[in-house]
Amino acid sequence: MDFNNTQTAYAYKTKKELKSALFVYRIITKPFMVTLGKTFLNIALFLRIPIKPFTNFMFKQFCGGENLDEVLPVSEKLGKYNVKSIPDYSIEGVSEETAFNNLISEVKKVIDLVGINKNIPFAVFKPTGLIKAEYLEQSVSNDHPAVESYRKRYDEIFAYAAEKNVSVLVDAEDFMYQQRIDEILLDFMKKYNREKAIVFTTLQMYRNDRLDYLDFLIEMAKRENFKLGIKFVRGAYMEKERQRAKDGNYPDPIYSTKPETDAAYDNAIKVCVENIQYVDVFNGTHNAESVMNLVNLMERLKFKNDDKRMWFSQLYGMRDNISFNLAAEKYNVAKYVPYGPVKEVMPYLVRRAEENSSMGSQAGEEIIMLKKEINNRA
Ligand SMILES: Cc1cc2nc3c(=O)[nH]c(=O)nc-3n(C[C@H](O)[C@H](O)[C@H](O)COP(=O)(O)OP(=O)(O)OC[C@H]3O[C@@H](n4cnc5c(N)ncnc54)[C@H](O)[C@@H]3O)c2cc1C
Repeated sequence: MDFNNTQTAYAYKTKKELKSALFVYRIITKPFMVTLGKTFLNIALFLRIPIKPFTNFMFKQFCGGENLDEVLPVSEKLGKYNVKSIPDYSIEGVSEETAFNNLISEVKKVIDLVGINKNIPFAVFKPTGLIKAEYLEQSVSNDHPAVESYRKRYDEIFAYAAEKNVSVLVDAEDFMYQQRIDEILLDFMKKYNREKAIVFTTLQMYRNDRLDYLDFLIEMAKRENFKLGIKFVRGAYMEKERQRAKDGNYPDPIYSTKPETDAAYDNAIKVCVENIQYVDVFNGTHNAESVMNLVNLMERLKFKNDDKRMWFSQLYGMRDNISFNLAAEKYNVAKYVPYGPVKEVMPYLVRRAEENSSMGSQAGEEIIMLKKEINNRA
């Protein structure tokens, strides 16, 4: 497998689209441009100036569209190269009943699609899309009355998914309320994951308690005879979590070094592969070593490349070199494809920009590869 094969990585893009991607990456790798852009956005939003014309280039790079209909041609395009799509209704920080119901209805629409569209293998949602985050936080120390209706919203989604035999991924978020989400998802895995993994929880392997939690889950699945669905990620909120731990005077929940997080991630995957009869594995990572680690493990243990219990996933607009080269070798690959009204997905786009401006090397590699492919097409 050659993740530097840019011809395969970008076959789905025209030269014009490659240049546009290069433009985006050049901008977001400059921290001062990101800070400037963020300030401008805040002012524009405050003054109610339409932001779409100014953010369109970013939106097109990292989002599939403003609604599900707009995502479909994108997923069809990726599907031609065996890369599947997971439409992700990416509104954040909602706090009202109508917004929760809106998310439920979007997730159900995606569940319907999974049954009829071979390019869409999963549905997904974020736990804080269904409750006010503040209530979730309060519920960890004191049962909050809002949690009962929160559980019902989950059940509405999972019952619908189970009826259609569709798997649903649930993202992981902040440490301070993840415990409550873990409890809820474990209950629903026991309820719905009898024949197949309908409910997928997420383990953030930067957390120093997750290998133990994984052992606990596997023991539980063996004992109570249900299937685990687990998405593995390293974790997206490190700085915030470290600061919170410091401010709140509790031990930092995250490994102190990157190599420790890397080792925990790879270890978790190994544990799952050894217990594959109990767990379906979804790898959400842009780390080429971790991907190769699993590819080698699968080869050694004689798994078929497209074993349906193993998935690889990257975000739309990022690391196409991994997604498309894996897919060319018949591995199961899906892109998270965020969508939603431009204004609503802004926090997501800002995070993508900040992340790329801070981890110089990965975004730098994207630039090198895009340039290489543009030159190849000359
Ligand atoms: C498909 C997909 C779905 C995702 N879903 C979620 C989700 O539900 N929840 C979520 O939190 N994130 C999610 N993420 C983001 C993910 O957690 C990572 O932030 C991101 O993918 C970068 O990590 P990486 O594995 O790609 O590789 P790398 O770039 O190799 O790793 C970077 C990560 O390593 C960790 N790290 C960096 N420095 C240190 C350090 N000094 N000490 C300890 N750890 C360190 C951090 O987690 C950092 O994000 C998702 C990512 C993808 C691709």
